[in-house]
Amino acid sequence: MNDWEQASAFSFSLLLTCLLLAACDIGKESREVTPLTGSVMGTQYLVKVIDLPEHMALVRVDEDVNSLLRDVDAKMSTYRDDSELSRFNAAKSTEWVPVSNELVDVVEHALQISQLSDGAFDITVGPLVNLWGFGPDQRPDRVPTDEQIAAAKAQLGYQHVHTRRQPPALKKDRDDIYLDLSALAKGYAVDQVADYLENLGIMDYMVEVGGELRLKGRNENGTPWRIAVERPTPGDRDVYSIMQLEDMGVATSGDYRNYFEQDGQRYSHTIDPRTGRPIDHRLASVTVIADSSMYADALATALLVVGPDEGDELAQQHGIAAYFIVKSPEGFDANATHPFEQFLVSTK
Ligand code: FAD
Repeated sequence: MNDWEQASAFSFSLLLTCLLLAACDIGKESREVTPLTGSVMGTQYLVKVIDLPEHMALVRVDEDVNSLLRDVDAKMSTYRDDSELSRFNAAKSTEWVPVSNELVDVVEHALQISQLSDGAFDITVGPLVNLWGFGPDQRPDRVPTDEQIAAAKAQLGYQHVHTRRQPPALKKDRDDIYLDLSALAKGYAVDQVADYLENLGIMDYMVEVGGELRLKGRNENGTPWRIAVERPTPGDRDVYSIMQLEDMGVATSGDYRNYFEQDGQRYSHTIDPRTGRPIDHRLASVTVIADSSMYADALATALLVVGPDEGDELAQQHGIAAYFIVKSPEGFDANATHPFEQFLVSTK
């Protein structure tokens, strides 16, 4: 029996919890909230600006935010053939391919996380993501054969991707390398919007795209932003823990929204490049807090791939603020690294 959940549903529920948590502070100093919403990258976005300066035209800010997000889509989507990334993936060439600075930036960050995670995070994983049905071409409905997995795995290897700054370009050692930036480009898009708002002098805001967030200053009640971590139960919409954040990026990766089941086994969209298969361990979700949403986004996927024990070790080793929710016979156990503990307000 195959079962399906949309990633965007996950982001909506996290968002809903953000709003609910803000409402808990009703009655305190109330400030003007300007919500900007829309859809992009196959998911929803919400920007909450507190006390938008009067001289700023809301229409202009709304249009600018939307065009920033569409620009990331036009550069980094594997869901459209005309994106910069899709053109690079389609190029059957091992020569330098001119691309934008922004795309070089994101690929460089991705390669750093690949080195940090010893290849567990690997943006060349695209052929496996598509083979398991979690890419742009189809919905997952069956387990591929061992031969198909081996053939797709042979196309992987972040070591075979190179970046150049002047002039900006990407190069692959084999012409069948195919990059998938879904694990960090949404976080990058959040950072683009956050930086735009700060350049306008806006210092109290929340930016959320598909579950990746960046928060600054205070919410509409003048208190720190409170964000919920969902209970990682398929089909559930429940708060598991509450964090309180200022001036940080936060992202969660999990196996309970974007998956299919076959013969009682769950196959999620997070692929272990070492096995060529979806992760298969007790870790249900990882939430990471970092200076940027892009780092939080990539690190959350990397730690989810390596699993609960290796992930905790890696996070401790690199001082990563990470929160692991692990399946247990009673339901779930949670484990926060020391840098994460300061943000936890409560656990249900
Ligand atoms: P995350 O945990 O943040 O990322 C998981 C994703 O990372 C997987 O889906 C896979 O793509 C990739 N991945 C899996 N394993 C690894 C690994 N080991 N190392 C590195 N990466 C890995 N979806 C649509 O349905 N329609 C669209 O039009 C669409 N457009 C998009 C455009 C852009 C620019 C981006 C970045 C994504 C787009 N998506 C689209 C995909 C969707 O928005 C989400 O990015 C996707 O579902 C994963 O996000 P997540 O936060 O759920 O999971």
